[in-house]
Amino acid sequence: MPDLWLVALSAAAAAAVAVLGVIPVILSGEVSPRLGWANALAAGLMLGAGYVLRQQGIALSPVGGIAGSVVGVTFVFASHRFTNLADVDLSRPEDLASATVPQIVTRELLHSAAEGVAIGAGFLVDPRLGLLMAGTLGLHNVAEGAAISAALIERGWHPTKAALLSAGTMAAHIPAAVATAAWIGAGGLPWVLGFSAGAMFYLILVELMPESYRQRGHTGIAITASAAMSVVVLLHAILVG
Ligand SMILES: [Zn+2]
Repeated sequence: MPDLWLVALSAAAAAAVAVLGVIPVILSGEVSPRLGWANALAAGLMLGAGYVLRQQGIALSPVGGIAGSVVGVTFVFASHRFTNLADVDLSRPEDLASATVPQIVTRELLHSAAEGVAIGAGFLVDPRLGLLMAGTLGLHNVAEGAAISAALIERGWHPTKAALLSAGTMAAHIPAAVATAAWIGAGGLPWVLGFSAGAMFYLILVELMPESYRQRGHTGIAITASAAMSVVVLLHAILVG
């Protein structure tokens, strides 16, 4: 079993850096167009992380890796249906008006719990992969923290409170990562690798990328997301091999 303190600390550090997301929001007057870039960067980093995890899962067991992905997609689909938040785009004024803060928090908690599973699963494969997942998801949390903070500041929240709440929702990484690292055995590993990859791909394809395209157009967003994905895959090749 991986060192659970290291897992918890990595997940906590990844969550904590989300507070930095408020800085670009405070510095820029205009929020919505910049959210497109933040979302695209977050999506590209998740895409890279998901690619690496899916590859690892399928290499261990094609059936478990693919079936786990289907469970991951179903989890996000069901959580969107359950919380009624499938079509909420925080950059749209009409959505911002209709989405309540508990709804925003619930959506982000479920989102970051699925990513916590990715951190825990990474540690189960190799501590270096776990650290790479935590680093990648931490960087993407800055971008997602910016999106959440911007949404809360537009609702009249103080920037400090908005930053703390965005990091608080990312803290769902910690129990999800530790539980995955502690409880999942060798037989379940391809499943959790597939699960986290499937959940992230679905979030990227139905949530982050459509929002980015709406906010900022197509070409720049597609290039940003692909470049971020390539950096993660390259780092994986260099650091983990
Ligand atoms: Zn995310």
